[in-house]
Amino acid sequence: MSVELSDNRDEREDRDSCDSSESPERSAGSPERSAGSRPGGWLREVPQTVFRMAPWPTEAGLRIVGEPDRDSPVLVTCNYDLTVRRVMNALAGSDVWLVVAPTAGINVWCASSGGHMGTHQIVTALKTSGVEERVRHRRAILPQLAATGVEVREVSKRCGWKMRFGPVYANDLPRYLRDGQKKDATMRRVRFDPIERFEMSVTWGGPGVLILAGLAAILHPSFALPLAALTAALSLSVFFLYDRLREPRRVLIGVPALVLSLTLVAWADGGTAAFVVAVIAPLGLLALLTFDFSGSTPIEGGSHFAERDWSIVLDSERCRGVFSCLDVCPEDCFERQEEPRLAVQTHAERCIRCGACVVQCPQDALYFAANDGARIEPDTIRRFKLNLMGKRAVEIGPPDA
Ligand code: SF4
Ligand code: SF4
Repeated sequence: MSVELSDNRDEREDRDSCDSSESPERSAGSPERSAGSRPGGWLREVPQTVFRMAPWPTEAGLRIVGEPDRDSPVLVTCNYDLTVRRVMNALAGSDVWLVVAPTAGINVWCASSGGHMGTHQIVTALKTSGVEERVRHRRAILPQLAATGVEVREVSKRCGWKMRFGPVYANDLPRYLRDGQKKDATMRRVRFDPIERFEMSVTWGGPGVLILAGLAAILHPSFALPLAALTAALSLSVFFLYDRLREPRRVLIGVPALVLSLTLVAWADGGTAAFVVAVIAPLGLLALLTFDFSGSTPIEGGSHFAERDWSIVLDSERCRGVFSCLDVCPEDCFERQEEPRLAVQTHAERCIRCGACVVQCPQDALYFAANDGARIEPDTIRRFKLNLMGKRAVEIGPPDA
């Protein structure tokens, strides 16, 4: 068993840069004041949903939401434009400071698991946004899905800010703030509800519809509409059904898609070329849609990558019941036990190997282990910003190799 790890050099090279000399993109004296939804915001919503895989950066720096004072909460998020607008909309009616970190215009989940939202970016944002001059405390709230990339103890060591992880969803922020910054289980778990499923199907299917229908319109106009309909139907099926079906899932979705495709061509009285496209298109599209891209799909658990053989192991001898793992796990894999006080893995089967629990455990009580006995220790996970959802570049061999 071997797994490659990617070394996040930016993070390590920029260590100890609390007093970063990078010029703040928004200076301390000019934070932007939120006025709720800005005009035209919804105009950006559609292209940003369809082309969500592309970065959409907005200016990093400090935003003022409502009428915050020197004791108001400080929240931190990424500089993905859609996220910032949604967070500000969700916070309408609250009085808070919002620090937007420079995460290359990438959303929280992808940026933290891909090395763009790590300890360095958070420290930089806190030190350069001007928030330190505006509040008299040093406590900030991160989105829970940043737990894969941000080492909160390291942030505290480098610049004195105490970080905690808020809810997964921006919409839960008002309740979280109202409840004294306490999370219940519903705020911790990724729900992947119908709206999210629809958005993801648009994100993955939308560009496919545009590309295929556009090409067909040029080369063979009568293919354009059927191909667009097929891509949309497949994308919706994958994101609404795939993770709810038992194996063989690809067959269960692929066969009806193939039948639909051939029926459409027969109905349109297509020739041989049309029948060839009718066979290739649904199979190719299905392969693309069910391929796993760094945990950004709901189907990571069905991955054909070797990483699925790795799982999280909890060393109960080391566990001291700090429960950071419960706080950050987006799949609610752990439960709290009081006597003796420790975490218990009650739903290990749900684990998506994001590594957040390993990164945040102060006792190094969690690690990745493979079926062949290989282990990846917490230090390695933190050093290489490793999760088992993406591209790696360093070999980890079996024990005693
Ligand atoms: S974070 Fe670590 S020490 Fe704390 S409960 Fe979880 S496994 Fe135990
Ligand atoms: S148990 Fe799995 S899903 Fe939960 S935080 Fe750890 S690695 Fe992520």
